[in-house]
Amino acid sequence: MMLKQIGEFGFIDKISKGCLIRPDNIIRAIGDDAAAFTVASDQVSLITTDLLVERIHFIRKSISGFDLGHKSLAVNLSDIAAMGGQAREAFVSIGIPLTCPLDYLKAVYDGMKHLAEKFNVNILGGDTTRSEVDLIINVVVYGTAAKNRLLCRDAAEPGDIIFSTGYLGDSKAGLYLILNNLPVDSTEMQALYRAHVLPQPHLREGRFLADQSGIRAAIDVSDGLSSDLGHITEQSAVGATIYATQIPISDSLQTFCAAYGFDPLEYALGGGEDYILLCTAAPQHADEIEQNFQRQFKRPLFRIGKTTADHRLEVVYANGTSRAISPRGWDHFKKN
Ligand code: ADP
Ligand code: MG
Repeated sequence: MMLKQIGEFGFIDKISKGCLIRPDNIIRAIGDDAAAFTVASDQVSLITTDLLVERIHFIRKSISGFDLGHKSLAVNLSDIAAMGGQAREAFVSIGIPLTCPLDYLKAVYDGMKHLAEKFNVNILGGDTTRSEVDLIINVVVYGTAAKNRLLCRDAAEPGDIIFSTGYLGDSKAGLYLILNNLPVDSTEMQALYRAHVLPQPHLREGRFLADQSGIRAAIDVSDGLSSDLGHITEQSAVGATIYATQIPISDSLQTFCAAYGFDPLEYALGGGEDYILLCTAAPQHADEIEQNFQRQFKRPLFRIGKTTADHRLEVVYANGTSRAISPRGWDHFKKN
């Protein structure tokens, strides 16, 4: 079925079922002129938005509706995670070309609802319009954080320990498999594929870190380690030294790089869309944070380096040599 058979309001009707997951603080959900919800007065509000445009961010033929829906919400939840917040309400605006089947759109919402349910987020509204050629999805997420627990990019100090909440570079490898139509038949290649199409936002990790003593700055990795760490060092006016041997590289990425002749370190440094968190912590609290994280999540918090007093970003190799790294992740308006 196509959208023109049911129209804009038929569409809204179809997708609105299952959008309200946590009704307790909601006064008006989908269906009125604006959503209305109550907010706790001891919290700060967080709002983030991301726009996904066909042919720029995704190829409709190459991604299922479900995965696209998942991803368009996940990238926003990851931003709330990076602030140490709780994601609460989501708004979805969508520009739909007449050629896009209703089943595909329904799957987009299924993917969003599935992830929304996992993290207790409501889909509270949005807008629907026709688009000439490309499918366009914009998601806004509202979240909250305790006033004294906000994680910001500018709070790192020289001598902080730098941590990563997960593996780096897997998503970029997954994208390479997709773009080159390579087989996704082994468990390793499936893991890379999933890291790209179904990234899991580190909301629980972000809130956990925000609650730890000694945590300072944080960011989520959307553009790549070197680029996103660069945002922390720039805004905090510090430098950073990363140890090549300590960068978390998954066995799957090792297998992929061995098979296709890539350097895993390059993938980890310059990848993107990993949607894990980087954070910095005061050195005297680092051991305790690491142990608490391991106890809570049953997997390690990776210690990848430290911040420094100069403004350089460098990677130190196993043999002791070092190289300056430039923030070289994704930039929409520069040649990549
Ligand atoms: P208005 O014209 O007053 O902006 P709409 O007719 O666009 O209202 O929307 C009606 C209701 O449906 C509103 O609650 C709006 O937030 C919601 N809505 C519209 N499009 C979407 C969408 N794509 N996803 C989720 N909710 C939507
Ligand atoms: Mg409208």
